[in-house]
Amino acid sequence: MMPDPRLDELRNLILKAKHAYYYSGAPIMSDAEYDALEDQLRLLAPEDPVLALVGAPVSGAAMLTKARHAIPMGSQSKVNAEEEFRQWHLKAGGGALHASLKADGASAAAYYREGRLVQAISRGDGTLGEDITANALRFQGLPAWAGTPEGGFTGAVRFEVILTLENWSRVDPQGRKNPRNAGNGIMGRKHGHQSDLLTSYAFDLDETRAGQPVRFATEGDKAQRLAALGFNLIPQQRCAEGDAAVAYFQQVARSRDQVPFWIDGIVLKVDDLATQQALGDTAGRPKGQIAWKFDSAGAETVLEGILVSGGHTGALIPVAQLRPVTLGGTTVSSATLGNFDEITRLDLALGDKVWVIKANDITPKIIRVTDRPPERQPIPVPSTCPFCGGSVRRKVTTGGEAGAILGCRNLACPQKSIGKIARWIKSLDILGIGDAVLNALVERFAIEDAWISIASVTRRRPWPH
Ligand SMILES: [Zn+2]
Repeated sequence: MMPDPRLDELRNLILKAKHAYYYSGAPIMSDAEYDALEDQLRLLAPEDPVLALVGAPVSGAAMLTKARHAIPMGSQSKVNAEEEFRQWHLKAGGGALHASLKADGASAAAYYREGRLVQAISRGDGTLGEDITANALRFQGLPAWAGTPEGGFTGAVRFEVILTLENWSRVDPQGRKNPRNAGNGIMGRKHGHQSDLLTSYAFDLDETRAGQPVRFATEGDKAQRLAALGFNLIPQQRCAEGDAAVAYFQQVARSRDQVPFWIDGIVLKVDDLATQQALGDTAGRPKGQIAWKFDSAGAETVLEGILVSGGHTGALIPVAQLRPVTLGGTTVSSATLGNFDEITRLDLALGDKVWVIKANDITPKIIRVTDRPPERQPIPVPSTCPFCGGSVRRKVTTGGEAGAILGCRNLACPQKSIGKIARWIKSLDILGIGDAVLNALVERFAIEDAWISIASVTRRRPWPH
């Protein structure tokens, strides 16, 4: 079979994003975009090896010492809709479920011997992580000594590390990073600075008593044991059947703004541990557990048009005009596309139904086409500048190659001039010359149309009417 270039591109994007996220401190995309890419790859190639990579690829450049997990840390498959949840629940036996909030943080494991925390390791790739013991000793909710009057705890505890919104505002008052990335940054520091601002929520344990593994009957029993040992537990409850889990999800989705930290869904586990173990796993993802993520960050709508924006560099950027749709409480009517290659990659045409996402930290973005009606109209790639009619070509990247962005070659392109004037005036930073003055200037010279519809240029009729 021929290699599918779409798959290569998806894989590369995912790996690049992973690397940027964990090592550069400068993520190249939002979490939601990343999830969407994984979704696409899963749709095209469910068995792709890239999907089995969990967390950070371990790099020699990282500051902290590497450490190996005694018990590998897996991850969970996810669903986004009630129908998908119902299908999973059916396959998982249809029994009682243990449900909890899904914190949007970073997971790690702590190892205890006779009550004492001896080592904490970030998840890393699930097998090899970073030794974060010095930091973990200062986390809220993670006891340095864990036990009951009967004795100290021996075993492993897995937990999520989060930065509450309150502490986020103290650490990062300008909100330059989101709480997840800010928390990860603190957790990855070498000398524990600000680690006391991080909170841990335990979600799983393996316990050994007298050299023998302790058998728990249910997830609920495990949670009770964790609480008795002194660990912080995330809000959770038992759901006797599927309907109760759906109700729990809906209640959490409605009240998510009242949770004092970022959550992105709920976690559901088959409560009965014997059943859960019997279900087994696929590529480190237990079949008896699932993350049900909020889909309020996504909605279906129709692509009604494309506008091209032009700036001082001559770059021609397509912007999707959408049938207005409510997304996470706001009305969305346009979405970024980045460049014309993106339109080709998505196989996007006017009239298509599209799935749009808008996470906490990004502008709306089309991530896939959900329906391609027969009357769809292709979106032409401009062969001339929609502002001046000049010739266009791909702009050269800093690496010296033809990039994905189209640019107008006409040095006298009026759109470039407008962009330059706007930039220059803004750069003056003179009191009183703000947007109002700029707008008045642009209006005075009748060049207010900084956005121009490509449809009106390359087609005779606007579409749709
Ligand atoms: Zn031009």
